[in-house]
Amino acid sequence: MLLNLEKSKLAIMKKIRGISVSEGVAIGKAAIIQRKILHVSREHINAADTSKELSKFKQDIEIVIAELEHLIQNYAFSQDQKEILSTQKVILVDPEFVDRVNYLISEENCSRENAISIYFTEVADIFRNMDNQFFSQRLTDYEDVAYRLLSHVLKKGSNRLDSLNDKSILIMDNITPSFVTRVFEKKIKGIITVKGSRNSHSSIIARSMNLPMLVNTSGLLNEVENDQLIIIDGNNGEVIIDPLPEVLLDYENRYQQEQNQKETLLKLIDVQAKTTDEKIIKLMSNIEIPDELERVVKYNSDGIGLFRTEFLFIDREDLPTEEEQYEIYKQIAEKMSPEPITIRTIDVGGDKLSSILNLAHEDNPNLGCRGIRISFENIPIFKQQIKAVLRANVVGNIKLMFPMISNVTEIYRAKKIIEECKHELKDKAVEFNPDLPIGAMIEIPSAVVTSDAIAAECDFLSIGTNDLVQYILAVDRDNEAVASYYQSCHPSVLRSIQLTAENAHKRNIKVAVCGEMASEPIFVQLLLGLGIDELSVSPGRILKIKNEIINSSLYNSQLLAQKCLLQKTSAEVMELLN
Ligand code: PEP
Ligand code: MG
Repeated sequence: MLLNLEKSKLAIMKKIRGISVSEGVAIGKAAIIQRKILHVSREHINAADTSKELSKFKQDIEIVIAELEHLIQNYAFSQDQKEILSTQKVILVDPEFVDRVNYLISEENCSRENAISIYFTEVADIFRNMDNQFFSQRLTDYEDVAYRLLSHVLKKGSNRLDSLNDKSILIMDNITPSFVTRVFEKKIKGIITVKGSRNSHSSIIARSMNLPMLVNTSGLLNEVENDQLIIIDGNNGEVIIDPLPEVLLDYENRYQQEQNQKETLLKLIDVQAKTTDEKIIKLMSNIEIPDELERVVKYNSDGIGLFRTEFLFIDREDLPTEEEQYEIYKQIAEKMSPEPITIRTIDVGGDKLSSILNLAHEDNPNLGCRGIRISFENIPIFKQQIKAVLRANVVGNIKLMFPMISNVTEIYRAKKIIEECKHELKDKAVEFNPDLPIGAMIEIPSAVVTSDAIAAECDFLSIGTNDLVQYILAVDRDNEAVASYYQSCHPSVLRSIQLTAENAHKRNIKVAVCGEMASEPIFVQLLLGLGIDELSVSPGRILKIKNEIINSSLYNSQLLAQKCLLQKTSAEVMELLN
């Protein structure tokens, strides 16, 4: 009997491979939030079952209306969003809809999924034949309602944020950075996406929150259903669906071990990040949203090495004002004082396209109007941000950093604009601190090659390895199809880091790495050996990276880096690191 049970279980348990973005084990229930094609069965029901089906349909409507109300109360930020959701509620109580579905169930013995689908197909046909903008918007509303209702009835994909809880593993086709932060609030166990890549901004945020996440899991949506028990193995890059009892037990043990390791790492909170031969390494944090500050403080990091301010511009309908920015920067600077905070000017573009800046469509956004280029195209917005920073820096610990620098002339230009901002503030007698260290992100090959000239104009440099790898190796950081070409330890990347560090040191300025390479324990010794003074990492990685630093010697790190620099391929470098 037991044997039979195991055999049938064996047939059910499935494994799908993916790319691990944030290591760790998560065990939970699949919660699919996904617009996938819903397959509606056209089968009829027995006449005897129609009254049960009618009352189920009534309940479905009540549940979906409650869901919409919850969304309106808790998640609809703009008036437009509220109106769209309210319209959907009206559709659900429209007698034309309710009567028609009731008729199809009671008179034609349709199942409710079939009846709902027939009704919305009829409506869609009518709207499609009306050549009018208004009706095409109405069609979208109807399609949304149909999807919401059918996904509830079929218990398949849904749009329901409120279906998530502290047992959920969220499954989506792809996920936006802001959605990661919203689902994090639901205390979910982990995230799996079908698409996505390791260094997309969504992945970076999940990592910063220590949320196990797997991306690039093609085929997953055909294998999994809502509420199925699943495991994310973030260490081996696997998702396990319906695990066998002994597999589940094994992962429960691993999960517990991880929790114990985390407890052990907590003991390092007050330990200084210093190598065994006494080289102090500044260990800073990267943040995207002010909410992350709590974790930065909790893990006692030496400051903020990268504040990605573009997140203040994303998912909203108006631009943040100078005042709003000033308040946020001031609060963060005060909270971190006397430790430094490094504010990076907006870096929208790539996967961070912001609708409020009305950016034109670009066929090749990663080579288009990104980073400092956007600021130069929108000088009033750039100036607002700089003025907010100058004012907030009355606290005295802010540094300003520019993204996507390709050329020293961009630093000249940015510095000139900073001077203009200072004059304008002075003319209006607004208080500010003129002493603002400035730095360049080194993330474009041309900036590496001319880092001597750039270093001469800056107070610090910070290497953005996420983009540097993308641009040196000509591999889109968000394209899973070329993920195997994205090699952080390619010899060309190592030589670029070394050259940048050398040029910074010639000018007596410090050089940091704020790309995700700094958050990977395996690269810590290599980066120290290549001459990096500071590492800026996801807050969730601070203690892990500190553990690497305090167990390394600078001397050995330099020997390792020298050996790595002599290798010809990424594979050879990886072999040495392993
Ligand atoms: C980088 O490119 O490495 C970086 C830190 O910036 P972002 O990931 O925001 O492009
Ligand atoms: Mg970058």
